[in-house]
Amino acid sequence: MSIQLFDLTGKRALITGSSQGIGLSLAEGLGKAGASVILNARTASRLDEAVTALRAAGIDATGVAFDVTDHVKVSEAVAKIEAEIGPIDILVNNAGIQRRGPLEDYPIDTWHEIVRANLDSVFFVSQAVGKFMIGRQRGKIINIGSLMSEQARYSIAPYTATKGAVKNLTKGMCTDWARYNIQINAIGPGYFATPLNKALVENPEFDSWLKKRTPAGRWGRTEELQGAAIFLASSAADFVNGQIIYVDGGVLATI
Ligand code: NDP
Repeated sequence: MSIQLFDLTGKRALITGSSQGIGLSLAEGLGKAGASVILNARTASRLDEAVTALRAAGIDATGVAFDVTDHVKVSEAVAKIEAEIGPIDILVNNAGIQRRGPLEDYPIDTWHEIVRANLDSVFFVSQAVGKFMIGRQRGKIINIGSLMSEQARYSIAPYTATKGAVKNLTKGMCTDWARYNIQINAIGPGYFATPLNKALVENPEFDSWLKKRTPAGRWGRTEELQGAAIFLASSAADFVNGQIIYVDGGVLATI
């Protein structure tokens, strides 16, 4: 056993939704472990800023803007990356959104929007990249689930539905693709202070509830997700498949 098991030098990773928040931190972590990283988001200006920041930290980073909910654009972008930048060895399906609201009044359009962003996207990008990985008989895919892959909370039932589905899609992808030497796992982050959680971070009542509810007594720091991602992206996880690793300061272990 050696630390080289975790070395990602020579590998290329595509991280969806990585212009900020968890995706950007995961890109930084994989980059520091040696990978070349391809960042993605829809808003080109924020994407450019993220690429510049990673390059300043000595990471080989490129930005490719596309919408992960548009399967035609996804296929085109993945084909272009493979042809012009190089093979994608590691895919992190991180892009996701939150839309809160009581279920009885939840707008149908918003339901479709969140399902497209959090679930369809994982299928679309994985299928596009998976075809190339199958051809190479090698690859790592990491899906980003949530505590809500297991549990629910008031006003986010649709989000909970998508994240539960991401967990089971991870198992399905493993069942279909492990035979091609592709390892597909998930990370379930607890509560991290990112723009997605702005409403919660700015709510003192939630902040104090969360600190009491979490055995670690605090919000997660996005860099604390990097270790699980590096592990799952590396040779150290060559026989780990279909799992979801929760990085949550102990929330799920505790009533
Ligand atoms: P943020 O809102 O901070 O960032 C989301 C990123 O995804 C942005 O870069 C955004 O850029 C991009 N994005 C959103 N929609 C699309 C799209 N259709 N196509 C391409 N890119 C897109 O979110 P977080 O970092 O907080 O969350 C990242 C992931 O982690 C999500 O899947 C979320 O559900 C999950 N998660 C987060 C937790 C937390 O505590 N923050 C807890 C558990 C899970 P742009 O808008 O420009 O496209």
